[in-house]
Amino acid sequence: MTLYGKIDRPQQQKTTSGPKEEPEDIICRNGIADYWGKVWDACSDALITFDKENLQDEMAYIVENDVIVAGLTRQLQTLSGQVEVQYRTKVVKYSWPRPFQVADSIPWVQVTLANGRTLQTKLLIGADGPNSMVRREAGIPTVKWNYEQSAVVAVLHLSEPTENNVAWQRFLPTGPIAMLPLSDTQSSLVWSTSHHHAEELLQMDEESFVDAINNAFWSNENQSDFVEAAGSLFRHALSIVMPNGASTRQLPPSVAAIGPKSRIMFPLGMGHASEYIRHRVALIGDAAHRVHPLAGQGANLGFGDVMCLTQVLSQAAFNGKDLGDMQHLLEYETERQRHNLPMMAAIDLMKRLYSTNAAPLVLLRTFGLQATNALPPLKVRTQFPAVFDVIFCPAFIKSF
Ligand SMILES: Cc1cc2nc3c(=O)[nH]c(=O)nc-3n(C[C@H](O)[C@H](O)[C@H](O)COP(=O)(O)OP(=O)(O)OC[C@H]3O[C@@H](n4cnc5c(N)ncnc54)[C@H](O)[C@@H]3O)c2cc1C
Repeated sequence: MTLYGKIDRPQQQKTTSGPKEEPEDIICRNGIADYWGKVWDACSDALITFDKENLQDEMAYIVENDVIVAGLTRQLQTLSGQVEVQYRTKVVKYSWPRPFQVADSIPWVQVTLANGRTLQTKLLIGADGPNSMVRREAGIPTVKWNYEQSAVVAVLHLSEPTENNVAWQRFLPTGPIAMLPLSDTQSSLVWSTSHHHAEELLQMDEESFVDAINNAFWSNENQSDFVEAAGSLFRHALSIVMPNGASTRQLPPSVAAIGPKSRIMFPLGMGHASEYIRHRVALIGDAAHRVHPLAGQGANLGFGDVMCLTQVLSQAAFNGKDLGDMQHLLEYETERQRHNLPMMAAIDLMKRLYSTNAAPLVLLRTFGLQATNALPPLKVRTQFPAVFDVIFCPAFIKSF
């Protein structure tokens, strides 16, 4: 899996030879570059483009998941005196403290591991993903639904080396397909579609799979003459009002092959815990909120939770407070829900708006995309940050 989002740019230059690469070098080689983004609709010619000329700072970075994990593992090793990582086991039971101190009761959360070990903590941070056991055992209500879609991911080999600095996403009636740059010759695929189609894509021989990808990016089979005519009229009207707002049409690079055994599928859904905290418990990441990958924001939202919780807990520790106390955990919950909910609503709306080829809705989004494209991206970004992050790109922009 590839994660998209903005991280601090390391100072090193590109590394292509020499001694064994460190994770940061790999990030430099594979992921750190300013990317352009193009998002367009398969049911019309509507297109939205943004590029570095239109934005003042770096747009985004693409970092492979393995690289992030390697970097984090290395960082954990430097903290071996303070942090103990338990590999090859899992939590099988949580025992919660009573709200009021009772004789013989443990005032902390007790965690039992499958290897028989038990641990006690003043604050349990539930980072155990969308099916969080911490959330379930703590009895935190969750709003959730499945999208009846799965995402097929794969590593793509391009037909020829290109500058490959554009991330492409096309909204098909069955779901969005995105191709995101990894190197001059490779991109990463995230194709969200019905479970049935995803299964078919997984079973196909490699050649048919590559054909299906190229067809999904290039074919005009979903377009109608009526929508085309209305869209082109609207584009023309916009070009009179905003002469600099038009984008030249470009096509994505063609795919020649896929990385061996790189095809995997993930079921998609949305979920939100109505509370992120309880006495001595805080949820972060997908345990608290799960989103559709069309905006590439899932892990970014989780990183935002981590930053916020770290800040709140540092302050509590500085003030000599009990880390599991509700008072400062509430600050975390309020701040993150205020940020996450609008983003989740925008992503869900986007998913629904693009899941149809009904003419009125296609027209609505065609006009919307064209009008937004005509506006300077900085203006959209400043005035509608959630909309900018969701519409403009599969997470090209940091959105913690
Ligand atoms: C196809 C796809 C593409 C995506 N692309 C992007 C993207 O481009 N950008 C982005 O920001 N996000 C993206 N996301 C979302 C991102 O993958 C998730 O938001 C992110 O992985 C959530 O991280 P997490 O650590 O909260 O949960 P998870 O990644 O689910 O990790 C939870 C961990 O907890 C462990 N665990 C669970 N139960 C137990 C237990 N009882 N004991 C011990 N361990 C346990 C699990 O084994 C797992 O390792 C994408 C998601 C999908 C499906």
